[in-house]
Amino acid sequence: MKCKALMYHNVDFPPKSAKLKSLYVTPPQFRRQLRFLKSVGYSSSFLGEEKGKGVILTFDDAYRDFLDNALPLLEEFGFRAYVFVPADMVGRYNEWDWRKLNVKKELMSWEDLRFIVSRGHRVGSHSLSHPDLTRLSDRELEKEVHQSKLLLEDKLGVEVDTFCYPYGSYDERVVETVKRAGYRFAFTTEQKKFSLEDPYRIGRIGVFGNKLFVLFSFIKKFYRY
Ligand SMILES: [Zn+2]
Repeated sequence: MKCKALMYHNVDFPPKSAKLKSLYVTPPQFRRQLRFLKSVGYSSSFLGEEKGKGVILTFDDAYRDFLDNALPLLEEFGFRAYVFVPADMVGRYNEWDWRKLNVKKELMSWEDLRFIVSRGHRVGSHSLSHPDLTRLSDRELEKEVHQSKLLLEDKLGVEVDTFCYPYGSYDERVVETVKRAGYRFAFTTEQKKFSLEDPYRIGRIGVFGNKLFVLFSFIKKFYRY
């Protein structure tokens, strides 16, 4: 299968104060990546609907810059994407890591999310509050996994069948809880070849923006996995 999955966080210019600037891919960089994908014949794809040269674009944390910066470029090149939402943080900011990153990043509102869904993009769960799920009690884990699905489905009126582990952190117990809650797929942050052999441990190619020759390293990585 030639399908590939890519992981993004922010599409924006990083603020000076921000730590971990690699999470930011700038809009010009993102545009060049989309232009490259299109020029080599890739088009966007969703899980369970893979095709020959399909690329599954994923955006973790549902930042507002998806709406402002990524969406116009995705539409320009005809791509669609998954956005993974920490459901209790909608309309708020990255309360789970703003101290560590030294920056408060705004998340999309329910209205924003309804808008992107209406434009053909899909929403998945990234838990309720973005905790490390492996460290929670059974009860808290169940709540983060199950209630986030119900809340997103209720507020957005669509089925949510895909989960994305916060921090890429999971174990057997977490996987079983995700299965039991009715999700069909789950993304990790592991970089490996795309495969649905284990639909609850799907890897992705991480796209980071802090290097020199960003497009070159993007292309190299794209073909490696
Ligand atoms: Zn996240």
